[in-house]
Amino acid sequence: THFGFKYIPESAKETLVGQVFANVASNYDLMNDAMSIGVHRLWKDHFIRSLAPGPGTKLIDVAGGTGDIALGFLNYCKEIHGDQSAHVTVLDINPNMLEVGKKRFAKTVYDKASQVSFKVGNAEQLDYPSNSFDAYTIAFGIRNCTHIDKVLKDAYRVLKPGGRFMCLEFGKVENPILSPLYNLYSFQVIPMLGQIIAADRDSYQYLVESIRQFPPQPEFARMVRDAGFTLVGKGWEDLTFGVAAIHSGFKL
Ligand code: SAM
Repeated sequence: THFGFKYIPESAKETLVGQVFANVASNYDLMNDAMSIGVHRLWKDHFIRSLAPGPGTKLIDVAGGTGDIALGFLNYCKEIHGDQSAHVTVLDINPNMLEVGKKRFAKTVYDKASQVSFKVGNAEQLDYPSNSFDAYTIAFGIRNCTHIDKVLKDAYRVLKPGGRFMCLEFGKVENPILSPLYNLYSFQVIPMLGQIIAADRDSYQYLVESIRQFPPQPEFARMVRDAGFTLVGKGWEDLTFGVAAIHSGFKL
């Protein structure tokens, strides 16, 4: 594939994202570890501990891909509460990504107990009634969606009153010393790793470009608030100097 873009046009984004994740699905978990030197695992653990789901939580994990958040969530519920009544719906637009996830859950205690279900769907228009879920998570997914405002609006709709929205996404590094290093790493090293490990420079070039185009933390926090959510404090927490950030809000 030769995407050959500098700027991702809105009209082509959904097709492009479809190609990218169909291409990367089989190498996705390995590449995450390589690109982030394993740090994405720490971010995801922290994300789930911050959500701190109670017994019986009904979660929808949107853009859930290969199921990292879903697995972390169910492990948390089992280990912290001994709870086997929690449930997670893993939703993703890409069937290839979900297939990798399904294989991972097959034969786990969670699969046997029907605590997880997989569904192909678009984050911009969820096929669920209003007030359906206790919690909504989206990890490294929202920047791949064409209309962020639609995603947030539908997140608000499907949550029950009192429900919590939590988003883990790449952010902007504002530290003047670290920022150029981070740029060097993302623009030079990541596409190279994509080339070496997955023989697919273009898909990883897209990933870097999508990070660059995503709004900075304060602007995204405003979008979350504009969708109707009540923010706690300023509305986000920076992780690793802002390389990633957790945005969260309640439907009150
Ligand atoms: N949440 C997983 C994780 O943290 O490892 C996967 C993140 S992966 C970088 C982004 C996922 O977003 C891909 O699986 C992709 O198919 C999905 N995606 C992109 N656009 C989407 C949309 N409009 N609706 C639902 N999922 C989407």
